[in-house]
Amino acid sequence: MTTLLPRAGPAGAEPGSEAESGAGAGVGAGAGAGVDVAGSGGSLGMAETHVVTNQVPPFVGHDVAADPPLLEAVARENAAWCLEDLHRLGRLAGSEQAQRWGDEANRYPPVLRTHDRYGNRIDEVEFHPSWHAMLDVAVREGLGAVPWTEPGPGAHVARAARFTVWGTIDAGHLCPMSMTYAAIPALRTTPELAAVYEPLLGSREYDPGLREPTGKRGLLAGMGMTEKQGGSDVRSNTTTATPSGDGSYRLRGHKWFTSAPMCDVFLVLAQAPRGLSCFLVPRVLPDGSRNPFRIQRLKDKLGNRSNASSEPEFDDTLGWLVGEEGRGVRTIIGMVAMTRLDNVVGSAGAMRAALAQAAHHARHRSAFGSLLVDKPLMRNVLADLAVESEAATALAFRLAGAVDRAAQGDAGEAAFARLATAAGKYWVCKRQPAVVVEAMECLGGNGYVEESGLPRMYREAPLNGIWEGSGNVNALDVLRAMLREPDSVEAVRAEVAAALGADGRLDAAWRQVEHDLADPADPELRARRTVERLALVLQGCLLVRHAPTAVADAFCASRLAGDAGLAFGTLPRGLDLEAVLERAPAGR
Ligand SMILES: Cc1cc2nc3c(=O)[nH]c(=O)nc-3n(C[C@H](O)[C@H](O)[C@H](O)COP(=O)(O)OP(=O)(O)OC[C@H]3O[C@@H](n4cnc5c(N)ncnc54)[C@H](O)[C@@H]3O)c2cc1C
Repeated sequence: MTTLLPRAGPAGAEPGSEAESGAGAGVGAGAGAGVDVAGSGGSLGMAETHVVTNQVPPFVGHDVAADPPLLEAVARENAAWCLEDLHRLGRLAGSEQAQRWGDEANRYPPVLRTHDRYGNRIDEVEFHPSWHAMLDVAVREGLGAVPWTEPGPGAHVARAARFTVWGTIDAGHLCPMSMTYAAIPALRTTPELAAVYEPLLGSREYDPGLREPTGKRGLLAGMGMTEKQGGSDVRSNTTTATPSGDGSYRLRGHKWFTSAPMCDVFLVLAQAPRGLSCFLVPRVLPDGSRNPFRIQRLKDKLGNRSNASSEPEFDDTLGWLVGEEGRGVRTIIGMVAMTRLDNVVGSAGAMRAALAQAAHHARHRSAFGSLLVDKPLMRNVLADLAVESEAATALAFRLAGAVDRAAQGDAGEAAFARLATAAGKYWVCKRQPAVVVEAMECLGGNGYVEESGLPRMYREAPLNGIWEGSGNVNALDVLRAMLREPDSVEAVRAEVAAALGADGRLDAAWRQVEHDLADPADPELRARRTVERLALVLQGCLLVRHAPTAVADAFCASRLAGDAGLAFGTLPRGLDLEAVLERAPAGR
């Protein structure tokens, strides 16, 4: 893997004549040297004046998994066995072919077909072939429910690693993969249903098209909670579920956001006689006829455009009860916890992908006489982004490891995952947009242009913070866990205790968190601040224990001791930025 160590001199372009734009470009030796606009070679394809120089090579043909912080985190969390294979997937994700799939699936978004040519309702969504190509790989690589059907040490971590690597090409198609993965804990509350559907959700075969689910080679799952009058407040759901006397229920009502509506089965909340309950709703009934699932329209979304998000109406729609009647929230929260993990893993992956683009550009682009990567201020920006990315990755994989051990019966890890996932979801997802914007700026004007891929990353960036509990809701969920599940606080304390004493700044930050937690005044008002600090301490603990000193030092100085500005690129002097940048992904 190529690193970001400084180079002896500019690659390719020689400094040209004195440029007017030199003013303010640097304060050290060589500042003011101009940009080579004339060049000395290149093609004259367009016009005699048109010589292309100093443009970076395409960021393609690399191994997306060649990322030390990622590889180390995966190995640390018991999934070293998947690393060799992860590089294979990483090379596929970095290939021109896979990148084209991601691009096309977003450029040609899904189209709703409500009726067939004869006027019959079909409620189908047509996707570009590239969408199917990406899902085919995702399912084969086990991004669905495979950790549940092929369990073992590191199973969830290995999946998270593949998820983050493959997700580099497109986040949209990860949505049905997440929901398929996440549905299992909820489904297992009803063993009869789990016995039928779990093996199919854990299949490695992508079998698209609406057909009777049990006759298919593999299934995908979605979820329907959000309604017009409330998404966070799901208890305000008005969809009703009436027992039909044969053990099934009939649903009537609407949903306001139901993504990936071509999934085979959905976990849906509806009001049953004993209260809000969770139901498994198939799109095709056992007799092969369509279950009413009337898609009114697809959302015209900011990003996530490869994926369809729909507004379905249910009318006499069949559903089977999952979990106990009246305990719908409790049942579906098992699914939400897993999708939140994927939000954290996905956001960490998106940050890494944005950093890689920025680093690649800086390694190849010269300005004012030398490569951008050799400019002290650009090194500060890139190092700051690298620290953020590494902290996000470390926390994401610590959470995946906790889920893994919880799935094997470790109650302490389950308690840790309960609180730390909500805190991680709040903080890591909130950092994604800031990182992507800064990475885009590293590419200058080229980053603002669609072909660079950064605009798509930018449009995608806020989403993980919004769905599966928007920022405030997650912050409040951390408080709820602290109040109602004291074992989760103890698990976090134990985690922190393992790192205390190594860095005084970490110790001081933790004392502040303990102080925040003990303060009874206005906990809701202060929730974001408390949770942000908690998440930073958890990240600091991981970096102090496991990352190179340079990374931990930069993190503790800037994020815990406050020796930094509000923007990226404000790390203080005296840090070993060379060592930090050595770990940044940079393509070939
Ligand atoms: C692209 C996309 C796809 C989606 N796909 C699905 C899907 O497949 N299935 C599904 O069920 N849903 C889906 N959603 C819906 C998503 O989960 C909800 O939008 C989200 O949970 C927020 O709910 P809401 O939109 O009703 O906002 P609201 O609940 O109205 O919240 C608005 C704001 O108020 C804040 N807020 C809420 N309560 C409080 C409080 N007590 N104190 C302080 N602030 C508070 C929230 O944090 C948020 O910032 C999708 C959303 C998007 C954007």
